[in-house]
Amino acid sequence: MPTWIRTRRAVLGSRRLTPTPALLVVEGNRIVEVRAADDTPDEAPSDVEVVDVGDHLVTPAFVNGHTHLAMSALRGVGLEAMAGNIIEDLYFRIEALLTADDVRAFTRMGAAESLLAGVGAVWDHYYFGEAVAAGMADLGLTGVVAPTAQDLAGPGVPRLEDALDATARLATDDTWSERGIFAACGPHATDTVSDALWRRIAELAETHQIPIHAHVAQSVEEYTRSMQRHSASPVARLGQLGALDAGAGMLLVHGLYVTEADLARLKAGGNVLCYCPFSQLQFGFPAAVEGWWKAGIPFTVGTDCGASNDSMSVQQELRLLASGRAFAVAPSTVGRRFRAEGAIEQAAALDGLRRQRRTEQQALADPQTLLDTVWQVPGRLHPKLEVGELRAGARANLCIWDADDPAWWPRTAPVRALTMGDIGSPWGLMVDGRWIGERGDLRRSLLCSDDWREMRAEADGRLQALARRAGLPEWLSRLTPASRSI
Ligand SMILES: [Zn+2]
Repeated sequence: MPTWIRTRRAVLGSRRLTPTPALLVVEGNRIVEVRAADDTPDEAPSDVEVVDVGDHLVTPAFVNGHTHLAMSALRGVGLEAMAGNIIEDLYFRIEALLTADDVRAFTRMGAAESLLAGVGAVWDHYYFGEAVAAGMADLGLTGVVAPTAQDLAGPGVPRLEDALDATARLATDDTWSERGIFAACGPHATDTVSDALWRRIAELAETHQIPIHAHVAQSVEEYTRSMQRHSASPVARLGQLGALDAGAGMLLVHGLYVTEADLARLKAGGNVLCYCPFSQLQFGFPAAVEGWWKAGIPFTVGTDCGASNDSMSVQQELRLLASGRAFAVAPSTVGRRFRAEGAIEQAAALDGLRRQRRTEQQALADPQTLLDTVWQVPGRLHPKLEVGELRAGARANLCIWDADDPAWWPRTAPVRALTMGDIGSPWGLMVDGRWIGERGDLRRSLLCSDDWREMRAEADGRLQALARRAGLPEWLSRLTPASRSI
């Protein structure tokens, strides 16, 4: 049955930010029509479900540009290891012990948290890609799954062929595309993947016309290895290997060690960078994203994993993107000099630096730029995903936000609330044309369901078993016992 969603306030996309009355017609998993309010009949045909949400704001659901949903299982495990290279020091050791069923159970936890944050689609990258896809489908989340492939180092080395086969199956098996789940190639990073494997992956991406999703220039170790082994930066090497031009485009995540020359190698048409500010604060430092913007390279924003963020709310990343550079003012030489000596001229210099940073970053704080990173850019990167905009033909992934929630009060600047506020969970959420939980009661309806309680208990049990296998008694002692019914 078609659904009509009527609202007095729709934000149709990052290029159409002024809230307008609209009627959205949803059939199957698609928005088939978007009508202006003065163009809509008062009475709907009898075979139509009408959902009139009044003043509630209707927007595209968010898209998380980079995550590892299953890694919410490792949240809080590695705080001590954050000082070094946590990926190599700790995660690889635990991840070598994972099973496909563990990954499916843990993915459901990250998927539920994502839905509650208004995320309708994710770009996931992890081992046992089909288990990730199954865990997403269990909750009704859509997105693009990149089975992690590596042949030089990391827990995926013994499972490399499985990962490449899984990529091909995800790309061709209709049971996934019917659930709004698509494939990307998932080379892990430039230092864990050989030249030969990069070439195979570029071919695979080309064959299936799918994107490549990889961590690129995320650590000093990766940059150093690339320069020493290949006499090229990670980005330069990818260019030499043809990876930047393969398939449906390339998503390059983190880019902490990306130079100006590297930016010149990227192509706005096919390469998308990904910025994960809260995660980068924990495992590294925030990337020089204003340089990406100046170079004209599109970028998306992602949360990265629950273990290094620790939230799945990609909306909460936006205000850090908008104004994060202001953090550089106080620790600067100018700031240090002022605090040591306190002269008026030094105070003026400090204020001058504040103004300069603000001017430099102004474009990033523009609502269109901010919302592009979580709607249109990641929503279009896979040709079949088609989310991040409310337009005829797009996949029906949308949020309805409660106009009476105090986070939106006094309703004078809804776009500002979307980009700079903490708007929590949507009042209603439709993903792939299906309602998630109950409208007006999303959180309780999801978390109090019998299905959820079973999924949660399974994840608890599997996590405890994993901690035992990993021989980490301190971690095990901190895990809560398997949850009981409330
Ligand atoms: Zn990552």
